[in-house]
Amino acid sequence: MADIFQTEIKFLPGVGPKRAELLSKELNIETFGDLFYFLPYRYVDKSRIYSIREVQPTMAYIQIRALVRSINKIGTNPHNYRLSIIVQDGTGEMELVYFKGIKWIESKIEVGKEYIIFGKPTEFNGRINIVHPELTSPTEHGIPGAGTMMGIYPSTERLKNSNIGNKAIAKMQYTLWERCGQGIEETLPEDFIKEHRLASLQFALQNIHFPADALSLSKAEFRLKFEELFYLQLGLLKQRGIRTRMSNGIIMHSVGKKFTDCYNALPFPLTGAQKRVIKEMRADMKSGRQMNRLLQGDVGSGKTLVALLVSLIACDNGYQACIMAPTEVLAQQHYKNISKMLDPLGIRCALLTGSTKTKERRALHQGLVDGTIEILVGTHAVIEDNVEFKNLGLAVIDEQHRFGVEQRAKLWSKSQVPPHIMVMTATPIPRTLAMTLYGDLDVSLLDELPPGRKPITTLHATESHRGRIYAFMKEQIKAGRQVFIVYPLIKESEKMDYQNLEEGYLRIVEQFPAPEYVTAVVHGKQKNENKEHDMNLFASGRAHILVATSVIEVGVDVPNASVMIIESAERFGLSQLHQLRGRVGRGSERSYCILMTGYKLSKESRERIELMCQTQDGFQLAEADMRMRGPGDLEGTVQSGLAIDLHIANLAKDGPVLEEARRAAMEILDNDPLLEKPQNALFQKQLKLLRKQGKEARDYSVIS
Ligand code: ADP
Ligand code: MG
Repeated sequence: MADIFQTEIKFLPGVGPKRAELLSKELNIETFGDLFYFLPYRYVDKSRIYSIREVQPTMAYIQIRALVRSINKIGTNPHNYRLSIIVQDGTGEMELVYFKGIKWIESKIEVGKEYIIFGKPTEFNGRINIVHPELTSPTEHGIPGAGTMMGIYPSTERLKNSNIGNKAIAKMQYTLWERCGQGIEETLPEDFIKEHRLASLQFALQNIHFPADALSLSKAEFRLKFEELFYLQLGLLKQRGIRTRMSNGIIMHSVGKKFTDCYNALPFPLTGAQKRVIKEMRADMKSGRQMNRLLQGDVGSGKTLVALLVSLIACDNGYQACIMAPTEVLAQQHYKNISKMLDPLGIRCALLTGSTKTKERRALHQGLVDGTIEILVGTHAVIEDNVEFKNLGLAVIDEQHRFGVEQRAKLWSKSQVPPHIMVMTATPIPRTLAMTLYGDLDVSLLDELPPGRKPITTLHATESHRGRIYAFMKEQIKAGRQVFIVYPLIKESEKMDYQNLEEGYLRIVEQFPAPEYVTAVVHGKQKNENKEHDMNLFASGRAHILVATSVIEVGVDVPNASVMIIESAERFGLSQLHQLRGRVGRGSERSYCILMTGYKLSKESRERIELMCQTQDGFQLAEADMRMRGPGDLEGTVQSGLAIDLHIANLAKDGPVLEEARRAAMEILDNDPLLEKPQNALFQKQLKLLRKQGKEARDYSVIS
């Protein structure tokens, strides 16, 4: 029966080729196995039947037992009429509404008969109704599941229009279970199951779809989550083991003159965290293995300096280093800061971006090949095919979440022995997520800000405060400070009622007229040279106000800016708000962040804004963000190609399960790093299978 899971879904009775195509398109269900793992997203207690009087619009899915009193078509145009069914029980009456599938409903439902109504109540024009409920006759056999809990399956609009809603999917699940439920092959070894007190796969799949009771359901959930996270970690950790055993890293023995000179010339002492992190990397670099380290540090924690000092270790050992930034503006800024420190020491560094002129470029290429340029700072231009190094020993990638996997692969190909890699990110990734996404990378944490930073006062404001905010801005500008104003949109949008940059800019120049005030503008749709011009205008202190979109989110350092105003702040996620706020509070002056919103806010937006006003701790905000939005949405993970597709487990909630699964994976690999022992054959087989299905944990450190 080994192939049940691979059987095409069209062979399931009641499915056939047409429905199979829809299931594949809409839900990615291709095989019996996919259907088995297509899980309910919630459960309803079937034993509970509500009376109409009890029903509230805030309720989730419920059941009612009521009599159909009338069925009416409302509206004249056959394309948009609706079906209104009035039902009553002993306690009151209520409307059921259908916009679609009307013919079918009409042919099935009879006035005067009693039905079990299942759906989600909503409020419309002050009255409670249910849109598109499921109706079954009390005598009709429902899904003959085992217990009183009934799974509710997600569906899509298109599927529902083809009559494949929750109920149809539940029926398919039942057919599948009847046919194949007894032949399910275990995917974990017997001893392992006992040791971790897991339910069998058979029990788990049965009870996740048709729970006998709440306890069985939670056992089933635990088993499936544990397994999913376990295999994810097993794959990642195995790869990491292989990598660390390959001793093909460049050995950098010593810290030498260049590092020491720069260190001694610093105008301030390193923070404890900076020292610790540099030590960790230093140990990697002389270990004989390739370093693959993620440096995580909140905005302003001083990552650039760490990157520079670590680069100098490479130079001290006769190697070159490159530091890559995601944007031109950032690359320039890094270059400016770095060359300021290196020029007096006689260490040659260079800047390479998309706008580097051909002539300069030629000289630069020469310097890289002959090794006279020791540190190269740049953008994606650094990884172009024609850029060659004499001996690249270290690559630092800043703000990695904007940097694709393929681009990194190109970087790897720049030297025979893979260079040491350090990835820097200010995205405070919660621990559970880091463990999963970067199971293959070592993580260093810069968890200390340089001393003397003043906390940023964060305030929530609405339109009615605008006058006072302008006055406050004028005060700050008079005191020599600068102001950021960030908009979520460039142009006015019909769809979204948010502030936009174009109108905002006009309003600002009206309130802050030239020549007394200078206002710069930066957004993503601008020509590069205009963007740079205005960015420099602001960075150099010649502009008082910078009107921008969230392009300035990443890394821009203007220590003299003391006010960050975020328009339509409800439009931004927590992590993004935090990154934006991090643009101020970099100097020694007191700083402010003003979150402007509309008057009406959803509960969630309000929570986000309140949290921002309460805390400045990036990790706390990231955890909250993940809780509110789910990890799939976590900013950055999608762009980086790191997003992982978890079916069952939820990283926001299942941290403890993840840790247990990770420990279990480590234990097994400790005794059998390559999973070669016979008792581990099943693990190996499952990993292979998952890889084939594209569900393995991808390893980002070893690029083939
Ligand atoms: P980020 O981690 O956000 O990239 P930066 O590297 O841009 O932070 O550093 C922010 C500011 O802090 C810079 O102006 C930098 O010169 C300064 N800085 C870095 N390390 C220290 C330190 N140990 N003491 C004081 N200031 C520091
Ligand atoms: Mg930075």
